[in-house]
Amino acid sequence: MARLVMKFGGTSVAGAERIRNVATRVKREVDAGHEVVVVVSAMAGETNRLVDLCRQIAPLHDAQEYDTVVAAGEQVTVGLVALALHELGVPARSWLGWQVAIRTDGVHGSARIDDIDGAMLIERLKAGQVAVVAGFQGLGPDGRVTTLGRGGSDTSAVALAAALKADRCDIYTDVDGVYTADPRIVTAARKLDRITYEEMLELASLGAKVLQTRSVEMAMNHRVRLQVLSSFEDKPGTLVVDEDEIVEKQIVSGVTYAPDEAKITLLRVADRPGVAAAIFGSLADANVNVDMIVQNTADDGKATDVTFTVSRADLDRALALLESKRAEIGFARLSPDRNVAKVSVVGVGMRSHAGVARTMFQALAGKNINIQVISTSEIKVSVLIAADYTELAVRTLHAAFGLDAA
Ligand code: ASP
Ligand code: MG
Repeated sequence: MARLVMKFGGTSVAGAERIRNVATRVKREVDAGHEVVVVVSAMAGETNRLVDLCRQIAPLHDAQEYDTVVAAGEQVTVGLVALALHELGVPARSWLGWQVAIRTDGVHGSARIDDIDGAMLIERLKAGQVAVVAGFQGLGPDGRVTTLGRGGSDTSAVALAAALKADRCDIYTDVDGVYTADPRIVTAARKLDRITYEEMLELASLGAKVLQTRSVEMAMNHRVRLQVLSSFEDKPGTLVVDEDEIVEKQIVSGVTYAPDEAKITLLRVADRPGVAAAIFGSLADANVNVDMIVQNTADDGKATDVTFTVSRADLDRALALLESKRAEIGFARLSPDRNVAKVSVVGVGMRSHAGVARTMFQALAGKNINIQVISTSEIKVSVLIAADYTELAVRTLHAAFGLDAA
């Protein structure tokens, strides 16, 4: 007998028929003798609808009331899933974040989970009851409902799996696993049977939308066995595991891209101490996340150019902010580019293999794709290119690293 957390995303609970499908899957695990905690998202599109209503009423909405509104989608689906289980004769009860309680910090709109008291749920599981828990929501220190940021029910599921010491956390979604590249772009992409936490973390934060980045971080820290699988098909998905559980290590496991990037160049920045701190300090104060950064040496010893990337949604805010600090920072001109994309190759095998960057640059050169910015970590190489070449670059690299399906 195992203890399982089964998480179902928005498309898996969109409508009565699909909710019945969820209940059938849960019943199968219960019949096999397992203890089951179900975590659900809101129905597909529902959270977007609620966010949009907040914007219509108040563009600069109060974050506490935003959470009150957008947490509502999950309240509907937990109740419906519990009802569907009852219809199949499975004892079940729904739980909202505050009832568990899933305690978070007070950052409304993107709260972090601090602590989950699992005692009550464990008692119920032992008594043979399925617990259906609302994803995405928690209880803040102010005693009010908080939400965990978009896609946050993945994190709810992993946090519950860690708190309840579950044997596995299955993330049911509308794709059947994690692929070597986005199958909509690369027809030769292959589903991975296994991937390491670290690779999954890179892929999630680099733009692959399968799992919320925080959920992977948490799974890695608590060593929660994660599986990504389809709620519509009966086949195993992709297991996210420790590196030593992977026998055949690929040099590159996946190619990914982030389309919504923007590049800013500050021209003729004074070459003196404190300048980078002034630029990136102001951006950090304004909560603008900076990703890739390059700075040249000043050949005249006086001024240099600094280039960096931000998400496209933050571009205008970043430009206005830097313009307002032009005198303080000291630069001649700002040059923005909103038509760029970041393409990355990821793989733990890179640690012990030289030449990954060379293969990558040669492959891109072969297609005449210009590289604007480069950044690397131990297990990834990323390049910034013109957005128009994104798909070509991803396909080219997928083939160059031998990932194309035979
Ligand atoms: N319903 C929330 C969202 O759409 C949480 C989730 O789906 O994970 O972001
Ligand atoms: Mg999701």
